[in-house]
Amino acid sequence: MFESLSDKLDSIFKKLKGRGLLKEEDVDVALKEVRLALLEADVNFKVVKDFIQNVRERAVGKEVLESLSPGQQVIKIVHDELCELLGATNQRIQLSPNPPTIIMMVGLQGSGKTTTSSKLARFFKKEGRRPMLVAADLKRPAAIDQLITLGKQIDIPVFYSKEIQDPVVLCESAVRQARLEGRDIVIIDTAGRLHIDEELMNELLSIKTKVNPKEVLLVADAMTGQDAVNMAKSFNEQIGIDGIILTKMDGDARGGAALSIRNVTGRPIKFIGTGEKIDMIEPFYPDRIANRILGMGDVLSLIEQAQKSFDQKEAEKLHKRIMEESFTFEDLRDQLKKLRSMGPLENLISMIPGMGKAVKDIKVEEKEFVKIEAIINSMTKAERNNHNIINGSRRKRIAMGSGTTVTDVNRLIKQYLEMKKMMKMFKGGMGKKGFKLPKF
Ligand code: GDP
Repeated sequence: MFESLSDKLDSIFKKLKGRGLLKEEDVDVALKEVRLALLEADVNFKVVKDFIQNVRERAVGKEVLESLSPGQQVIKIVHDELCELLGATNQRIQLSPNPPTIIMMVGLQGSGKTTTSSKLARFFKKEGRRPMLVAADLKRPAAIDQLITLGKQIDIPVFYSKEIQDPVVLCESAVRQARLEGRDIVIIDTAGRLHIDEELMNELLSIKTKVNPKEVLLVADAMTGQDAVNMAKSFNEQIGIDGIILTKMDGDARGGAALSIRNVTGRPIKFIGTGEKIDMIEPFYPDRIANRILGMGDVLSLIEQAQKSFDQKEAEKLHKRIMEESFTFEDLRDQLKKLRSMGPLENLISMIPGMGKAVKDIKVEEKEFVKIEAIINSMTKAERNNHNIINGSRRKRIAMGSGTTVTDVNRLIKQYLEMKKMMKMFKGGMGKKGFKLPKF
């Protein structure tokens, strides 16, 4: 999903890293490339235009967080704008206060409508609901059989009739049956065509009018790019839709449909299909998708966490200490303490301001933190501030005091020295290598 767009953006942002202040020219150069990348990803041109304009305004405007590097700032703004474009928050399927909730699935033939209807039914069943599927594509007996087969697989009843000719009559009977059986969700798989035609639209409109579904969901094939977007626009204009389910996202390396469809139709993407199997459907979370596109979800959430946890002044102070190479065990302990209060520990070290990506890929476990803290606590203040005085006998004492071994203490000191070396390198702008906390 999004592989090619993601690769391109990654290389654009790499060029922005490690520069000093964010200059207008830099932003313009980067945005020119972002624009191209989006167009190549088959994103609607008007969407691209607005997107670039919004990012530019924010990037060269006042909205500059001093604690972030220029590259990080642009990434953050692009990320926020991507989220906005994708719809900001997850939009759930609305359920009726008086069950059953009727969901009408519409879309062109081959878009994945039948598969998605079953996936959705299974999704609701997993949530403890009692869905029923309705095979309302009366033109294609094969579609009815397909739904019956899928229904059997997931043990969900399928309402169908090979005698009833009128889809409206069939849907009304299905809803009556659902009430009788105490089904709380009715998912109607309507007819599709290879192209939009008037007959189809009339049929869908009369079902919608008579059956009054809570939601009309359009199923669109993400691999068809802008065709999917235009088709969605027509469906919305002609019958009115409440949301979109984009299928075949697993095969869509470019992402043009996903990035344009909400903006062009004004309707949110509610779910995405990520494979042929019946469980391959996910609620659509714009922020997670934006993270996936930028391929740096971890970094982004860490940036946000770090912004919350470290105030600017403190960050500057610490940065200064790193620059002066006077980062002591005491600083390390303070920072680790803060990190521990920030939630999941993995990778958090890299967010100590000033250390950035120099220390990526660290796996830290709670018990390692506890040990490191115990060792540092067993040092005297003088030792914490000057590691050079920690000789053999002091190491033995520290190990005894912290309930660890001399090997543990040696390892921590060695790692601390390596870390200082890394910081020095990072300071010189070449912080590529990883730092590993000692393994206990
Ligand atoms: P319909 O004609 O709209 O009812 O489409 P179908 O449900 O029959 O699906 C058409 C084809 O798309 C089938 O081969 C499905 O397995 C496949 N398909 C549906 N959703 C997805 C998806 O999310 N990913 C992939 N890879 N294939 C899908």
